Amino acid sequence: MKNIDEKLQPILAQVIRRNAGEPEFHQAVHEVLESLGRVVAKQPHFLDQALIERICEPERQIIFRIPWVDDHGHVQINRGFRVQFNSALGPYKGGMRFHPSVNVGIIKFLGFEQTFKNALTGMPIGGGKGGSDFDPKGKSDAEIMRFCQSLMTELHRHLGDQTDVPAGDIGVGRREIGYMFGQYKRLNNRFEAGVFTGKALAYGGSRARTEATGYGNTYFVQAMLQTRGTSFDGKKVVVSGSGNVAIYSIEKVQFFGGKVIACSDSTGYVVDENGIELALLKDIKEVRRERISEYARRKGAGVYFIAADKGSIWDVACDVAMPSATQNELSGKDAAALVKNGVMAVGEGANMPSTPEAIRVFLDAGVMFAPGKAANAGGVATSALEMQQNASRDSWTFEQTEMRLAAIMRGIHDTCHQTAEEYGAPGNYVLGANIAGFVRVAESMRMLGVI
Ligand code: GLU
Repeated sequence: MKNIDEKLQPILAQVIRRNAGEPEFHQAVHEVLESLGRVVAKQPHFLDQALIERICEPERQIIFRIPWVDDHGHVQINRGFRVQFNSALGPYKGGMRFHPSVNVGIIKFLGFEQTFKNALTGMPIGGGKGGSDFDPKGKSDAEIMRFCQSLMTELHRHLGDQTDVPAGDIGVGRREIGYMFGQYKRLNNRFEAGVFTGKALAYGGSRARTEATGYGNTYFVQAMLQTRGTSFDGKKVVVSGSGNVAIYSIEKVQFFGGKVIACSDSTGYVVDENGIELALLKDIKEVRRERISEYARRKGAGVYFIAADKGSIWDVACDVAMPSATQNELSGKDAAALVKNGVMAVGEGANMPSTPEAIRVFLDAGVMFAPGKAANAGGVATSALEMQQNASRDSWTFEQTEMRLAAIMRGIHDTCHQTAEEYGAPGNYVLGANIAGFVRVAESMRMLGVI
């Protein structure tokens, strides 16, 4: 607790006591409270009415059983979660994650981060998150459908386009959203398009939603590089992951003239000094759903694969690093290797991919560091644009949607940059994002009374 203002220490102590065994949630709260010392010094009224304590406590947490029948006729049980964190700015909004590591602490950390991220977008959306410890790997299409239907049989009563609007996250894409939305529509007898985002275009999805998180992170890093009079042009870039966020970061970085030389999945990473061939990566990951080693095998000479237990992708020398896989994937040691190799900017495509030690290493070394809650907000911002299109029964062009996304990312960048300066920490985007997000949510909560 050494970096936390004395007045805020009891708040963290209480969060840790009340949420025992949830290290990721503690980590996310810790990081925000670290930034708030400067806020309460300047504006002590934020200590009134237990505002900060209330922000750290989810408004509602739903945990439920998901029984389903596999292809062999066996009954399987998973656990479902929806944490409705904060609705001061709008309906709860945030994705669903299907991954065996999911537990209430992980969903809570994601919901907490989502609240500030959504506030930073400037759109009218509160924060929430959900998911299940279901592992989609190796499941048939029919199993995925039965699982999604069973999940929604319980969850539907807690959702609504003015109440709680889920979307995708790790393990949840178009297919899963289709099955969940379909079951919701059936149970409610309502075509309520705005109750889910990340839908396919055919039934109310938004153009550019799939690309939005990766594109948005790239726009954010580009804006950050511009503050030092440079750009992606000619830069060497490493993007971890090879899911939706990574693929569309690579696409936009290449568009801006950067060279992405490495990417990864949970089995390991590949290095291609000539620049990752995006069409091949998309074919392997989006169409065939194969492992990343396939990329090296298909490319042959000059391209190599390193298994996850044999090395870290962050040992690959680069100018810009974009961690886009999952939480705590980049350690203090990884950050030190990146700094030693001359990294100048880091943009977090994933949620909380850098450990607290890694963030400290970057900030101490003067590396420009964009935290996920600001840099990856393009996904949820475009979800809000999808809600807007659904509410007006409209459908925008790709260009129009991407233009809005680009403007929103520029706005988030400038807000974080200016806020950091205002609070005496120029260039510290972690502080800027945490403070700007907090102030927006806390001001609204204050006006809404003690609820
Ligand atoms: N799961 C994404 C995130 O972490 C998107 C959420 C959404 O679109 O609601 O922000």
